[in-house]
Amino acid sequence: MALTVANSLQVEQVDWSQLDTVLLDMDGTLLDLAFDNHFWGTVIPEQWGHRNGLDLPSSQQHLAPIFTNEQGKLNWYCLDFWGETLKLDIPSIKANYTDGIRWRPQAETFLSRLKASHLDVVLITNAHPVTLEIKAARLPLAKWFDKMVSSHSYGAPKETQAFWTELSAERPFNPNRTLFVDDAEHVLDSANTFGISHLITLRQPDSSLPPRKSTRYPSIHHFEEIMQGLPTVD
Ligand SMILES: [Mg+2]
Repeated sequence: MALTVANSLQVEQVDWSQLDTVLLDMDGTLLDLAFDNHFWGTVIPEQWGHRNGLDLPSSQQHLAPIFTNEQGKLNWYCLDFWGETLKLDIPSIKANYTDGIRWRPQAETFLSRLKASHLDVVLITNAHPVTLEIKAARLPLAKWFDKMVSSHSYGAPKETQAFWTELSAERPFNPNRTLFVDDAEHVLDSANTFGISHLITLRQPDSSLPPRKSTRYPSIHHFEEIMQGLPTVD
């Protein structure tokens, strides 16, 4: 599989027999990113604006540069950081907005077929452990994975090489026989630098937004595009 395919909307078939390990991102890959985008883009600015006497557009405008400044850093994913910065109880707000937490199409079918396969299936997420807990309480996530890792436990997000070094120490994998699926291409860049050979991104991480027209990595819309060769499950 080519590592980078400019403007490619095609993914080659995955030869599962050549793989031992599948690393899967959570938000925007297995779960609909619409929840997170709505939560951080609307719910939190609404709550913060309410406290600070601002309407939603003013609040969004005020918070935008503060959010932008933390993107790609562990703080971006850290409920404690945002709770402290915005003076809001993020976990309790989040616990009241769980309705929008949902699977992406075919995600559970894909996971059930991976579970029946020879592969070591590992969830790797930048989501805060509390977010992971809230999502795993809402959906039966844990049963599909041999291991679930929040990058907070390493103190380093997937964007850093430290994350991959820690992961390979805790859960050894052969980068040449590993597939990593993540909707964030800057995260795939980090995995690519570490030497992971098989990288796939998603064309529509957020169901409320149109699919991406071009991606720098091979991309899929739905998991059926790569399910061939996995055991079937009744
Ligand atoms: Mg993601």
